[in-house]
Amino acid sequence: MPRQFFVGGNFKLNPTSRAQKQALVKVLNDADLDLNTEIVISPPSIYLIPLKEIVRKEIKVAAQNCYYKDNGAFTGEISAGQLADAGIPYVILGHSERRTLFHETSEEVAQKTKAAVAAGLSVILCVGETLQERESGATTKVVSEQLDAVVKAIKEEDWAKVVIAYEPVWAIGTGKVATSAQAQETHLAIREYLTKAVSPKVAEDTRIIYGGSVNAGNCKELSLQPDVDGFLVGGASLKPEFVDIINAKKVKAKV
Ligand code: PEP
Repeated sequence: MPRQFFVGGNFKLNPTSRAQKQALVKVLNDADLDLNTEIVISPPSIYLIPLKEIVRKEIKVAAQNCYYKDNGAFTGEISAGQLADAGIPYVILGHSERRTLFHETSEEVAQKTKAAVAAGLSVILCVGETLQERESGATTKVVSEQLDAVVKAIKEEDWAKVVIAYEPVWAIGTGKVATSAQAQETHLAIREYLTKAVSPKVAEDTRIIYGGSVNAGNCKELSLQPDVDGFLVGGASLKPEFVDIINAKKVKAKV
């Protein structure tokens, strides 16, 4: 089966009011969207449930993080089980902002991934190298090490619940997008890694999406790469052009 194209919107710590959140949803609810693409939006946790209640049913909702413990004295955390119980199907884990600003290690990200799939959630698992790592030729090594921790923590069948987001740190929020050749090269390297570290079937079936300054102008070309199965979009997911990114694969009807 071909891999279904996937577009996720990571709202990060935006928008700043409930009214703005409703306006973002209205744009998506009113838009002509390519429903062959799986669409997931990820607002801050306070908006997860109200957003899920007003967004059209074809659009899924993702949390931006969860904790690996089920419950207990962990102030400020949300568990994977609580998300699943609230009907939230996806969670983003290992985003570079969490790895750098909140010092999450690959082992913690792997524990969270394990807890999420055990709770029945699907995971958008983010990996990616810094500019220094890319310039020193370490991209594949860095990304493989980030994935290694997850490979050790979950079972082969759990990979059906994982979408890998390759997000070069130097491209996130910088306006500096990876070229389609750079994205394709790393996506292929990730697929080759999965073939060896997990199985050829998991490598073939797992969606590998690109994130880092994707916008309406660059999404089409990136989407043509054979190993680019979609996007994780930050800044542009808060703008009307998000609709064009969702529709990157849409075939125009002949007139
Ligand atoms: C992201 O935060 O996942 C992201 C890709 O951000 P941006 O599109 O703004 O670079």
